Amino acid sequence: MIVQRKNLSFWERLYLPAIWGGFKVTVRHFFKKKVTMQYPEERWVVPEGYRGAPYLVRDQEGRTKCVSCQLCEFVCPPRAIKITPPGPAVDPGTGNVEKRPREFEINMLRCIFCGFCQEVCPEEAIFLMRDYSLTGANRKEMIYDKEKLLALGGVHQDRIQKWKRKQREAEAQEVFKPAGQPVGHDAHR
Ligand code: SF4
Ligand code: SF4
Repeated sequence: MIVQRKNLSFWERLYLPAIWGGFKVTVRHFFKKKVTMQYPEERWVVPEGYRGAPYLVRDQEGRTKCVSCQLCEFVCPPRAIKITPPGPAVDPGTGNVEKRPREFEINMLRCIFCGFCQEVCPEEAIFLMRDYSLTGANRKEMIYDKEKLLALGGVHQDRIQKWKRKQREAEAQEVFKPAGQPVGHDAHR
């Protein structure tokens, strides 16, 4: 179908009514409360529960919490996570875990900030932070390696030592009560 182009009237050809209409909108908004933000000097305060970029965290003794189980890599919908396991070599510096990843990469260009990795992690080693401003000069810079992820994640003070908490929860249940000890006994803490 051919759409007929409507001829402008004399009044429309003047453009002055349109300019005046634009001025009216500007004046109307001039006295209203400003909603724009002078980014990056002014930063948006993200709400509680906001899902930003996923980073790795350390425990309060500075140890890598990730045990390289690769569950997050498996569950990640856009396959943004790539983990290189340590192999058969035993890492003596792991402390409370049996192994750590040799390399752990997250491609932030692929990540959709869904939070599945955080949900599935048995060690509470990966968390979606509040970081929404990720920049890089090229694609390679947007692939965050283990050291960068750990540096950005920092030490997670709130949810450390998950298994000790789990142990306490288990001990609080009658079925796990050790023989001869009262419910909720804390001897192994
Ligand atoms: S937040 Fe979602 S997309 Fe991003 S790394 Fe985790 S599982 Fe993958
Ligand atoms: S971050 Fe968590 S789920 Fe992913 S490999 Fe490490 S321990 Fe496993």
